[in-house]
Amino acid sequence: MLTCKLSINRCVETNHCFIPLSSVLTMEKSTRPHILVLPFPAEGHIKPMFNLAKLLSHRGHRITFVNTHHNHNRLLQFTDLPSFHTQFPHFHFASITDGVPVDLPPNEFELLISPSSRSQVAKEFRDLLWGFVEKPRRWDPPCCIIADGIMSTVSMNVAQELGVPVITFRTYSATATWVSIHLSKIIQEGLMDLQHPEDLDKVLTSIPGLENSLRECDLPPILKLKPGSLFIDFYIKETLTMTQASGLILNTFDQLEAPIITKLTTIFPKVYTIGPLHTLTKTQITNNNSSTLHLRKEDRRCITWLDHQKAKSVLYVSFGTLVKLSHEQLLEFWHGLVNSLKPFLWVIRHDLIIGKGDLGNNVPMELELGTKERGLMVDWAPQEKVLAHPSVGGFLTHSGWNSTLECITEGVPMLCWPLIAEQTINSRCVSEQWGIGLNMNGTSDRLIVEKMVKNLMENRIRFENSANEMSKKARESVQETGSSFHNMENLIKDIRSIKVMR
Ligand code: UDP
Repeated sequence: MLTCKLSINRCVETNHCFIPLSSVLTMEKSTRPHILVLPFPAEGHIKPMFNLAKLLSHRGHRITFVNTHHNHNRLLQFTDLPSFHTQFPHFHFASITDGVPVDLPPNEFELLISPSSRSQVAKEFRDLLWGFVEKPRRWDPPCCIIADGIMSTVSMNVAQELGVPVITFRTYSATATWVSIHLSKIIQEGLMDLQHPEDLDKVLTSIPGLENSLRECDLPPILKLKPGSLFIDFYIKETLTMTQASGLILNTFDQLEAPIITKLTTIFPKVYTIGPLHTLTKTQITNNNSSTLHLRKEDRRCITWLDHQKAKSVLYVSFGTLVKLSHEQLLEFWHGLVNSLKPFLWVIRHDLIIGKGDLGNNVPMELELGTKERGLMVDWAPQEKVLAHPSVGGFLTHSGWNSTLECITEGVPMLCWPLIAEQTINSRCVSEQWGIGLNMNGTSDRLIVEKMVKNLMENRIRFENSANEMSKKARESVQETGSSFHNMENLIKDIRSIKVMR
C-alpha cells in the first residue's frame, strides 16, 4: 500500500465560499482521488503521460496535468480544449516555467536540462504543490504524483517533504530503462572504450539480463561524452532519484520485454507495464479521437494521398520530434528515397533541418520530379493513423520509443536510423531481438538508403510473420485478459489504496 501523510488543515474554495478542506476530502477523496501528473516538456514524454492521465481521469480520478507555459500555449493553439473538458470535466491543466531564459529557444533539450533551468522548474513545481496544501483551492492536495522519470530531481524532494508518494513514469522501453540504471556502472567500468572505436562492435556482457544482446555502439550516444558532462550528469542524477519512487510505470507490455521487466522488479517495489498506452486508451475511451492532445497542426492531406496508393506500397518516413538533420544528410536520404522508386510519405518538421530551415533553390531537379511522382512531404502527420493505413508497408524511423511501439502495434516493419538518447537500444531490439526490421547502423549514404529501402519493401515477407505476431501480442495485452489491462487495474487499485494521514 502507498501512503501519503498530509497533515495540514486548510480550507478550499468552492465557487465563492470556503468550506473546510477536511469536509471536501471526506466528500471527494473516496470517490475522486486527485493525481498530479508531471511530464518532461518534450512531446515524446507528454504524449504517453497524457494518455495515462486521460485514462485515469476516465476512471474517476481528478487530474492536474503540469505543462510548461510554452507547451501549454501550443496546447491552447492546437487542441480543442472546450470539447476535451466537456468529455473530461475533472481534468485540469496547470503550467509552470521551463526555466529557459525568454531570449533562448524553448524546447531545446540541452537548455531544458541545464542546472539553472532545472532549479527554477523545481522551485515552481514546489510552489505549485505547496499551493494545493496551503492556499485555498477547489481541489484537495494530490494523493500521489506521477512524475516523468527524468523529472525526478524536480519532484522527489518536495513530494517526500509533504509525504506524497511519487510513482515514476519512465517513457523509455524496459530495456532502455534497465540500461540507464546501469549508466554509472558502464562509465566506471569504462565499458564504452572510445580509445578503440573499432571495438564498438564488441558485444556487451556486463549488464545483467542483457548479456550478448547489445553491442557497445548500441549504448546511448551520451556515453561518448566526457564523464561529468551536462547530459551524463543529468541522466545519472535523474535515474538515481527515480529509483526512490514507490512504483515504476512503463509504456511497454510483458510479452515484449518480460525478462528485463522482471529485473526491474528488483529495483522498484511495483512495476506497472501498461503499454501500448495509445492502444489501451483507444480500447477504453470511446471518442478518443476528439480528446487527442495536439501540440502541432496535423496535415491530414496525407491520409487522402495514402488512400490512392497500393496496399503496403508506401514507406513512411519520420524522425520524430527532436532529431535534426544536416542539409547533407537530408539530401542523402532524399536521393536514396527517390532512387529506390518506392512511394514515400515523409514528415519534414519545420525544425528538422539544422541551421536555415529549408534548402531554398538548391533542390536538384531529379528530387523534385521524383517526389512529385511518388512522394508526399508534410510538416506533421497523424502518425498513428498513417501507420494503421493499409497502404503503408514500411517505416523509416529514428527509433523513438513511441514510434517504435506504435509501429509494433500496427505490425509494420521498420528501417531504423537511431541518432540520440536511447534510440540505438530500440533499434537493436527491433532488428536483432524481435526481428521486425533492419538497422541502418548510422549511415545516411544515398546508395545504402536506396538499397535498404528496397530490401525492406521488397522482402517484407521476411519480417511479416514476426511483425504480425508482435502486433497480435500488443493488442492482446490491452484486452480484458491481457497483462497491460490487468496492470492498469492494479495501478488504479494501488492509487485508491493510498492512505492520506492527517
Ligand atoms: N508524431 C506524430 N506525427 C509526426 C511525427 C511524430 O504524431 O509527424 C508522434 C508519434 O506518433 C510519436 C511521437 O510523435 O508518438 C514521437 O515520439 P517518439 O518517442 O517516437 O520520438 P521523440 O519524440 O523522442 O523524437
